[in-house]
Amino acid sequence: MHTMWDVVVIGGGPAGMMAAGRASSFGKRVLLLEKNTNLGKKLLITGGGRCNLTNNKTNTREMLANYKGNDKFLFSAFSQFNVNDTLTFFNDRGMETKEENDGRIFPVSNSSQTVFDILYKYMQEGKVEIRKSSIVGGISLEKNGDGIIIKTKSGNDIYTKACIVATGGLSRPDTGSTGEGFAWLKKLGHTINDNDVALVPVALTDTWIKKLSGLTLDEIKLTTFQNEQKQESYKGKLLFTHTGISGPMVLNMSRDIGELLKYGEVSITLDLFPGLDSNTLKQRLQVLLVTESNKKIKNVLKQFIPSPLVPIILEKTEIDGQTFCHSLSSENRVKIIKQMKEIKMSVKGLLGKDKAIVSSGGVLLTEVDFKTMQSRIIPNLYLVGDVLDIDRPSGGYSLQLCWTTGYIAGSNA
Ligand SMILES: Cc1cc2nc3c(=O)[nH]c(=O)nc-3n(C[C@H](O)[C@H](O)[C@H](O)COP(=O)(O)OP(=O)(O)OC[C@H]3O[C@@H](n4cnc5c(N)ncnc54)[C@H](O)[C@@H]3O)c2cc1C
Repeated sequence: MHTMWDVVVIGGGPAGMMAAGRASSFGKRVLLLEKNTNLGKKLLITGGGRCNLTNNKTNTREMLANYKGNDKFLFSAFSQFNVNDTLTFFNDRGMETKEENDGRIFPVSNSSQTVFDILYKYMQEGKVEIRKSSIVGGISLEKNGDGIIIKTKSGNDIYTKACIVATGGLSRPDTGSTGEGFAWLKKLGHTINDNDVALVPVALTDTWIKKLSGLTLDEIKLTTFQNEQKQESYKGKLLFTHTGISGPMVLNMSRDIGELLKYGEVSITLDLFPGLDSNTLKQRLQVLLVTESNKKIKNVLKQFIPSPLVPIILEKTEIDGQTFCHSLSSENRVKIIKQMKEIKMSVKGLLGKDKAIVSSGGVLLTEVDFKTMQSRIIPNLYLVGDVLDIDRPSGGYSLQLCWTTGYIAGSNA
């Protein structure tokens, strides 16, 4: 006779840990299988290692408006476990939280380890058996329909009454999210919408970008163009990388850029001063040039814009940096202002899934009952976290989905 578990959770990411902890809180015998040598590899790198665990939209309708068109599925789930419940869950277990820009919530400790530790303790309290380095190779159903068989790569079959699939999506495969779960679910009859990268940094063709690597700019505006036609503008914070641009605003733009790229080349203009029109900017530059009239323009512009940008502006305007401010022609002043308002960049493409924050695609939502997170196709099979095809922006929305779906699956499995 083989052991029959009450619940087996496949995947030790945030959704799997929440689900396992919750299921075990009812006294159920819960086993968690994780293929890595450690749990939560991706969780620990979230939010730059600080973990943006949710977004402070305590009004559920307002929160759900961010999950483009999927609110109808998520409403019943969030009516059971919403942002307030997430905050209570972590706060009650001793983790203080704080709000940063755009409602992003972080632990006061500024460490994703704090979030991890709470989930780990939650599982320990329920005596969840955790098997690391345990690679699942497939799921099948017992012939009499009584249970689920989980095949591990080491050759052992594990039997369970209920199974929660929390194997994640396809972004950052180095953390363990390699999409194996999708293959098993497809075999069992589920529809898997095509996976593509979403929320991903943007690569540029411009070689000067390398000189700006690491530079962040606050409150700037980016505008996308295709065939010289303006497409969309975005305001926020920009981060330059070795190969292009990143940061929350760019991650959120990436899906639109990906769509545009299907139809042709995309360029982006950067406005360093979206709050100032060209005339006001010109007056301010004028004042600076008069005050510093005996200095060279390359040294004076640093007072106006971050210094790594100075040689780039001068190169693009073809102005000699050695020019003294008093002899800068009016034509060149206009050129500088125009550049500051419209630095042109050309998109090479989106970076691949190795750099993506989340992947799009996953299990078709109509095939899941969001009141329980149970599959509508396979009884006693539950689906949580990134496995599901839910569009969302950057800002804590992905982890909130893990807490909500994990908690509900754990309550029902
Ligand atoms: C760099 C980065 C930063 C991010 N920052 C944020 C943020 O600040 N806020 C936010 O809300 N979201 C953030 N995200 C997104 C967030 O991390 C994911 O949405 C979340 O981790 C998904 O959780 P999950 O449990 O569904 O899957 P995962 O975290 O991907 O976990 C899946 C687990 O399943 C295991 N697994 C897979 N296949 C098998 C198998 N065959 N057998 C056994 N185990 C298996 C994997 O090893 C992995 O441990 C970030 C993502 C990245 C990449």
